[in-house]
Amino acid sequence: MKSFENEKPINDIKIGAAAYVRNLAVAEDAVIRGQFNLAKVLRAAAHSQRVMAMKISRLYPEKGDHLHLLQIILSEIQGQNEIEFFRAGQFTEVPESEELNQLVKVRERLEDIIQRAIAGLENNGDITDKDVDESIWGCHGCGYLIEGDSPDTCPLCGALSVEFEWFGPFYSSSSEHLGQLSPDKIIQTLESIPEKIESVLSGIDDEILVRKSSDDQWCVKEVIGHIIETDKAFVQRVKSILQSQGITAIPRSIPPWKLHEGKMYETKSASELVDHLEGAREESLGLIRELRSDQTPFQRNIHPATAAPLTPCNPNVSFSNHRSNFVQLQH
Ligand SMILES: [Zn+2]
Repeated sequence: MKSFENEKPINDIKIGAAAYVRNLAVAEDAVIRGQFNLAKVLRAAAHSQRVMAMKISRLYPEKGDHLHLLQIILSEIQGQNEIEFFRAGQFTEVPESEELNQLVKVRERLEDIIQRAIAGLENNGDITDKDVDESIWGCHGCGYLIEGDSPDTCPLCGALSVEFEWFGPFYSSSSEHLGQLSPDKIIQTLESIPEKIESVLSGIDDEILVRKSSDDQWCVKEVIGHIIETDKAFVQRVKSILQSQGITAIPRSIPPWKLHEGKMYETKSASELVDHLEGAREESLGLIRELRSDQTPFQRNIHPATAAPLTPCNPNVSFSNHRSNFVQLQH
């Protein structure tokens, strides 16, 4: 099978990925030696090399089968043997047995999660919350993964809760800036979606449009309602920012992705929904086009008055999510 693994451009990706870890490891060492400017350059190079590797991999057409990739990950994890690894002589010292034990446990936990993910994909074609918990927390100190509620401390290395990175089925931001779109791409996506939704909806029975695959899932009409409501919220928030009144607070009881609930979107007809969406979209697009000449408030996703970060309602985040909402609709 043609896969992400053994093709020519993949080499560039591998080089970028390996360089990222190598540069950061040497940067850490440089800091210990007091070479702060060397560390700075190495960290900047790591950043650039990672982004370039990601860019190449995005362009690469054949990313391989998901199940196959999980199997590759499994064999990678299983192929590691910490003790042999450190006795191979390339290292100045063999870590304390405590640290080796940590590595073994981190690997075993990851192996367990990957195995459950593979079972889910094989049995049901998808990974559900029953296979792997909705939330995974990754310790920056040791790499240990914990499922479920946010941990107070790491049971392996003792790191505090702030040292954990959250991995959920959606993201409003990620340190890798996944899904980030350029301003042009945002406008293009926004413009094209109402029409695409209209064509996806045409000729589909209402019964299907209101069907929920489970109680906590949205039906198709609610997904459209969600897109409409977040467009409206976006317009309202941008306007108040431009008037320097500060961001209107998002009520804690209703996060942005729940604004459509209780507004009976599921009872509207498909054509009413498309009309609504076009109206809301026209307004948000108008606003974004105006902003392009003076994007200062949004350039850094920083609020102009309070200097607070603009997540979770910044255009890039919500619009790249909406690209995913549209993919959901197509299914
Ligand atoms: Zn830890």
